[in-house]
Amino acid sequence: MKCSKCQAEAIYFAKYNGLYLCRQHFNEMIEKRVKGEIRKQIDLKKPTVRISVAISGGKDSSVTLYLLHKILSGRRNVKLTAFTVDEGINGYRPAGLESASKLAKMLGVEHHVIAFQESFGMTLDSIVSADQSKIPCSYCGPLRRKLINEMAEKQNADYVALGLNLDDYSQSILMNVAKGDYERFMRMSPQTEIKDGLVRRIAPLRSILEKEVVLYAVANGIPFDSSWCPYYSRAQRNIFRDVINRLSEYNPSTKFSMLKFFDKARSQKGGNDVKELHRCKVCGAPTENDICSACLAIENLSHEAPIIKNKARIH
Ligand code: SF4
Ligand code: ZN
Repeated sequence: MKCSKCQAEAIYFAKYNGLYLCRQHFNEMIEKRVKGEIRKQIDLKKPTVRISVAISGGKDSSVTLYLLHKILSGRRNVKLTAFTVDEGINGYRPAGLESASKLAKMLGVEHHVIAFQESFGMTLDSIVSADQSKIPCSYCGPLRRKLINEMAEKQNADYVALGLNLDDYSQSILMNVAKGDYERFMRMSPQTEIKDGLVRRIAPLRSILEKEVVLYAVANGIPFDSSWCPYYSRAQRNIFRDVINRLSEYNPSTKFSMLKFFDKARSQKGGNDVKELHRCKVCGAPTENDICSACLAIENLSHEAPIIKNKARIH
């Protein structure tokens, strides 16, 4: 099939707008959309803009770093750094780490690693083996979020970029709606306001479909690790993924419509009226509650598995 914009061979068919696209026009479409997100999410007029990219080595965060570098590296006021959170997942994280460091080196971006083991005195693998009944992601998510914020603060970042694609994003919208969690719905990245102690999270790929991210990475020779986390099948998010993918079979624009709905809801008067953040009583991290979700996860674990209790070093 030929590209709808030129005579070259198409590499992609965008069901949601009926366009066949060759490599060049596919790249142009993705980059244009990401530039639009960058303009919306980052204040580039500031004299210095420091962006830390949380890169796991997977396709999404690798494409995020690659595109932020491609689009912004010509600007003198923008400083990009990257870091990887090593959760301690055997057979998965080491390959991601290698890929992340390879890409950072290729682009000349400073890259650091922060590990669960150093920060909490335990790996995700040891947590999971201590508490088989819990969904691994329910520990991994809050602990990782805590380290992402800590590392971004350490790198003096104004923004921390996450590799969320449109599939992830629409799942998060629906998950928050289904749980009735208005606060979290309103607080989803990108954060529009500076909250004390919380580095603003941005999501430059939030309007790019997951399959488009994969194709962009492959078409542009971006190194990424394609292995899956061994705990992935136990993630609650999978139910929401299935539901949204079913809906997309009937209407290929579903994910885009959900994003539009979210943006509209948040831009309404009062849309940003969410609870003020205060400090976690245990670790001092910014939180909506008395105790942050990372400390709650560790506290919960120490009830389930007393052996680990003394090992948890929270700082
Ligand atoms: Fe962590 Fe779950 Fe993601 Fe695995 S799938 S890295 S356990 S959040
Ligand atoms: Zn805490």
